Amino acid sequence: MPNYSDKPVIIFDMDGTLLDLAYDDFIWNHLLPIRYAETHHCSLEHSRLTLSEFYQEHNHTLNWYSSRFWTAKVDVDVLAMQIEHKTRVAKREGCIALLSYLKNNDYPVWLATNADEAGLAFKLEETGISEYFDVMVSSETLGHAKEFQPFWKKLQAMHPFDASYCYFIDDTEKVLNGAAKFGIENLYSIAQPSSANAPRSTCNYPMLDALTDLIPILENAEERKKYA
Ligand SMILES: [Mg+2]
Repeated sequence: MPNYSDKPVIIFDMDGTLLDLAYDDFIWNHLLPIRYAETHHCSLEHSRLTLSEFYQEHNHTLNWYSSRFWTAKVDVDVLAMQIEHKTRVAKREGCIALLSYLKNNDYPVWLATNADEAGLAFKLEETGISEYFDVMVSSETLGHAKEFQPFWKKLQAMHPFDASYCYFIDDTEKVLNGAAKFGIENLYSIAQPSSANAPRSTCNYPMLDALTDLIPILENAEERKKYA
């Protein structure tokens, strides 16, 4: 969708940014080790070790985000497993307050996620947040993870946006590094992506404590624009 608004495009990550990463932690670090141990008749300890080696090998690749890849790799239907526990998917505090503010103030709001298409679909259905977005894109559709330049080039080609004027909020530093390399000026991280873990103490990007902390940042930028 072309950007007819004079407001900057606000691009959000999904998991760990708008949604609580505690769900994904539960699925991948708690439930999958149990299911893998059951399927392969091994100890939970062996299961954890094996999965952690797989995780290290595939982290930050498109495979990492693919339910189909993991289902084939570990012989557990991970999409079915996620959907089985979909009621645990939760919005982070301030999610709707921020998205409503942006919509009411004519900001183009986009969702750019590394979740695969199936994961994106059931999480949108469960949370009902799709109505807030003008553009929603999964890295699976573009064929490249957000960590890498081809993702941003393809997104830009499909949905033109001014990188130097837009905002991108993501809880993964490596993804923010990719966005910075592409030229996105306004980058924000998340202080506590998972409610099950303590907030992080450092990050190379400014961190939002509450999602709604973005509102005064945008309001200040609008004020500065008036007097520029
Ligand atoms: Mg994330």
